[in-house]
Amino acid sequence: MESLRELYRIGAGPSASHTMGPKRAAELFKQRTPGAAKHRVTLYASLAATGRGHLTDVAMQQVFEGRDFVIDWKPRESMPLHPNGMRWEALDANGEPTEKWEVYSVGGGALAEEGQTPPPDLYVRHSMREILQWSRETNMPLWKFVEEREGLEIWDYLSTCWLAMQEAIERGLEAHGVLPGSLKLKRKAHRHYEQAKGRPGALQRTGLLTAYALAVSEENASGGTVVTAPTCGACGVLPAVLRYLKEVLNLDDRKILRAMATAGIVGNLVKTNASISGAAVGCQGEVGTACAMAAAAAAQLMGGDARQIEYAAEMGIEHHLGLTCDPVAGLVQIPCIERNAVGAMRAVDCGDYALLSDGEHEIPFDTVVKTMKATGEDLQDRYRETSEGGLAKLHIPPGVDPTAIEGNHCG
Ligand code: SF4
Repeated sequence: MESLRELYRIGAGPSASHTMGPKRAAELFKQRTPGAAKHRVTLYASLAATGRGHLTDVAMQQVFEGRDFVIDWKPRESMPLHPNGMRWEALDANGEPTEKWEVYSVGGGALAEEGQTPPPDLYVRHSMREILQWSRETNMPLWKFVEEREGLEIWDYLSTCWLAMQEAIERGLEAHGVLPGSLKLKRKAHRHYEQAKGRPGALQRTGLLTAYALAVSEENASGGTVVTAPTCGACGVLPAVLRYLKEVLNLDDRKILRAMATAGIVGNLVKTNASISGAAVGCQGEVGTACAMAAAAAAQLMGGDARQIEYAAEMGIEHHLGLTCDPVAGLVQIPCIERNAVGAMRAVDCGDYALLSDGEHEIPFDTVVKTMKATGEDLQDRYRETSEGGLAKLHIPPGVDPTAIEGNHCG
């Protein structure tokens, strides 16, 4: 497994796979081909089906500003490894290709190439079973495993991510008006927050959790800066749970960072053994994984041991199995934003539930991750970030052209 630096990335929303990844690919190819007269990229399958519109193309055009740059869209064709494939070409003055590059945006802003050397295996252990075994043998909490594998510097990195998460919450709570795109969706975070503040203590839970999740997800939908956790589309769940529990349990930031480390193990295991890409496995890989990460964090912050934390994470995924990706009009707004809010509530519930138990349970986390992968492979393409099925097909909002998918996807 790679560093948590590859899981938690700070960048502009709304899409880790459809904006962050392609932008990074554009930057790398531009650096590699400084003398080219022209650059061309062909986008395939999900990336082409839902990437058209303001951010996939805009993100790449920003990199090639002032240069001759064209984008070809091939939504009906696929490259072999992943639905988010790109073929890059550098051309000379006669239009002849001088260099080519095939690369995939595989989720969370990461890029992958066929036959590439695997990234450094920082974590050595690749399953929750092995990590729990380490915890038992060393009598150490799960977050210590992150410190052992990454070194003390990881705390500074996680601290920077936590700061960016809190800033996204604050901006989102302050913002008003409608989100960009044809849906003209009203921002709701501010109203939820105000409503929650007007309620007595215990009844504030739903309002606060949803306000924080909505705040971050609305920032993401408007292209604001967020932290992938594990993706942009699912970026509201973990910050909401951390902020809510920090307040109600009066926790210091050191505990929050340790919870982020444990949540990072959960996200990294899914990324390694299944997928965090909606284009590959549907929304179970995005909001399902985010819920599992946040459930693990919640269980730890509420005082759970390693077994209870693993149970909470397992439940976070188990109860999202089969969740499809079907964003209306191709925007990361419906069902995505509300799904983050519901995911945050469910994560706290999973943590709480696990703490009521002694940690013993039937389905191991590793099994549910394998199940998610198999279920994702069984999903028809229309439910994997193409906006051709589900809500995206059956709910056509007034004034929206159903043939014009705007596409600013999240993975
Ligand atoms: S429905 Fe699709 S676009 Fe929306 S958050 Fe889930 S995976 Fe991302």
